[in-house]
Amino acid sequence: MTANNLQDRTTLHNGMDMPWFGLGVFKVEEGPELVQAVKTAITHGYRSIDTAAIYGNEEGVGRGIREGIEETGISREDVFVTSKVWNDDLGYDSTIDAYEASLKKLGLDALDLYLIHWPVEGRYKEAWRALETLYKTGRVKAIGVSNFHIHHLEDLMKDAEIKPMINQVEYHPRLTQKELHLFCRSHGIQLEAWSPLMQGQLLDHPLLKEIAKKHGKTAAQVILRWDLQNGVITIPKSTKAQRIAENADIFGFELTAEEMIQIAGLNENTRVGPDPDNFDF
Ligand code: NDP
Repeated sequence: MTANNLQDRTTLHNGMDMPWFGLGVFKVEEGPELVQAVKTAITHGYRSIDTAAIYGNEEGVGRGIREGIEETGISREDVFVTSKVWNDDLGYDSTIDAYEASLKKLGLDALDLYLIHWPVEGRYKEAWRALETLYKTGRVKAIGVSNFHIHHLEDLMKDAEIKPMINQVEYHPRLTQKELHLFCRSHGIQLEAWSPLMQGQLLDHPLLKEIAKKHGKTAAQVILRWDLQNGVITIPKSTKAQRIAENADIFGFELTAEEMIQIAGLNENTRVGPDPDNFDF
């Protein structure tokens, strides 16, 4: 299914709904620009915000959410908030403590989604047990992972009581993650794209520009639309009001089957971020 509007949601395997589209805030430091970006996104109709403890910006994200909610008259439940436990905190007690610390910074009673940020060998299973406890005791509405390859997921699921609801990974036309996507789909794990715009590096590509021109759209809008038509949740980052609006204006056109294939043909299995099999943090 493809989303028809900015607030459309997909149903995760636990029955919880999550918006197909959201705002990312990686590398946005605490301060007025961050608060304003989150608030602008919400007043523009965004209903999902993705942050992480390591981004060091949960306080500002929380403030932006509160201001956005106040300005638009929606309620807290209308906004889907994601954060992630950082590598240093992977462990049973330390992950529970990290969750509480994130909530405190965000100024929230509970998160909609909490993710293990990276699959640190030997440590993610204990952290997953903590996420399961948080979930079973109703402290968090959904739990998942990030940057997990197929073998990480297989290993995790060997001992897990609850399957991850989400796997958030680097995903864009240069890294289409075909096998991982198929694997996740077959296990009911929803794929979510980080760096969907390849951090801006793909926006001058002639094919994307040509397809964009045909639809009267921008290359960024074509990529984000491609995510949705592939059934992948997407969370582009921008702090600029005009781009926050532009990125969300992707519901009034449809890429053809041929265009979808052409865009997937740009895959080179290249990354802007580290390979989850080879990171040193
Ligand atoms: P994106 O692919 O979303 O690209 C963001 C960059 O593109 C910024 O420089 C932004 O600049 C620019 N940009 C955004 N929209 C447009 C546009 N319409 N036209 C031109 N340029 C544009 O990169 P991110 O790495 O930020 O990924 C998105 C989110 O994914 C993150 O913010 C974070 O929440 C999450 N993430 C998760 C990771 C994980 O390990 N789980 C790792 C990395 C990201 P400007 O702000 O100036 O507009």
